[in-house]
Amino acid sequence: MTSSILHTPYPIPQSLYIHIPFCKRKCNYCDFVSYAGKEELIDEYVEALCNEINSPPCQSETNPPPSLFKRGGKEGGEFSTIYFGGGTPTLLKPEHYERLLGFLKMIIIFKKETEISMESNPGTINLDYLKEIRSLGINRLSIGVQSFNDVHLKTLGRIHNSKEAVQAYKDARAAGFENMNLDLMYALPGQTLEEWRTDLRQALSLNPEHLSIYNLQVEENTPFWNIFKTYIPQTSYPLPNEETELAMYEFTIKTLTDAGYHHYEISNFAKPGFECKHNINYWKNGNYIGFGAAAHSHLNGKRWANPDSLEEYIGSGSVVRNVEHPTSIDSSRATDRQDSIFLGLRLLEGLPKAKFAGFEKEIGELMRDGLLEEKNSNYKLTRQGLFLGNLVFEKFV
Ligand code: SF4
Repeated sequence: MTSSILHTPYPIPQSLYIHIPFCKRKCNYCDFVSYAGKEELIDEYVEALCNEINSPPCQSETNPPPSLFKRGGKEGGEFSTIYFGGGTPTLLKPEHYERLLGFLKMIIIFKKETEISMESNPGTINLDYLKEIRSLGINRLSIGVQSFNDVHLKTLGRIHNSKEAVQAYKDARAAGFENMNLDLMYALPGQTLEEWRTDLRQALSLNPEHLSIYNLQVEENTPFWNIFKTYIPQTSYPLPNEETELAMYEFTIKTLTDAGYHHYEISNFAKPGFECKHNINYWKNGNYIGFGAAAHSHLNGKRWANPDSLEEYIGSGSVVRNVEHPTSIDSSRATDRQDSIFLGLRLLEGLPKAKFAGFEKEIGELMRDGLLEEKNSNYKLTRQGLFLGNLVFEKFV
């Protein structure tokens, strides 16, 4: 299969991320920054976002940022992607998005081809809602399906069932979405290989342009951690063993590539031309600006983040973040070059060999272990490396 990434590298776009940290209920596996039962703060949060958008980060008056934003009515940077992520962005009303997009249009240039994505939860959308957000210019919809099996959906703590997920997909098509992603998860508690095959086939039967498929990670500070990691597991729904998990992943790759999807990142598959530009920019360690609680930004090698707390974010009024005086810096991150390596290796095309200067010993070990290979003057993950990516990435942190 031809690969648009391998043969025609993407220009690195500039991206905007807007975090919507509200959820109806917290899922049992979720460690994202999202809050259940705080919907009464949505109006205030949207106002805080508008304030922040109105005060874009800058380095200083004498050292302005590269032309990311319109300045003094002049045209500034052209953003290629805007991404509303969460949390559950579809808990906000269309009027909230009308207001947010109005503010965004004051600082950036929207073009017809600008990818404007929104994550959605099937338990929070209907045809009217989808028509309204589509008419506002949202042109890529990601639906958090996770599974088509109602037993597994219940175990995960999702607020929707399988029928509602299918209906949400059909409604989105009817509303005019032509670029859609489905999020699915495998290696769920008690899930068999056959159940995963059924899930994946059902997803394929809907014919989405993009599929993001992650194995369940049991994270600290989640109900699943208490069930599966803290006590001696006595659940009648044990996690699949590593062999089954590998078989699930292998089945996923084979089924989706046979169906014409381009496997372009460890967990992401797209019909050619529908790869997610926003996330590619992230994996290529490109520049992006994040707005909202817990939103991270990366600009020319510098990173900073907003506070996680909803109340702190709202209370800060017009949040003027600054590259030299960031609200907080994630000091656990390694250097920007190391970030470039372990983010870029997630892409199946890999990274130019020159990027690995100084890591010759690590490269040798990973190649010896069969986790990394050389192709087209790049180092890239092998098939085994795709499954054991964390063993590779930890060498570069
Ligand atoms: S809907 Fe998404 S963000 Fe919200 S709790 Fe569930 S997994 Fe987390």
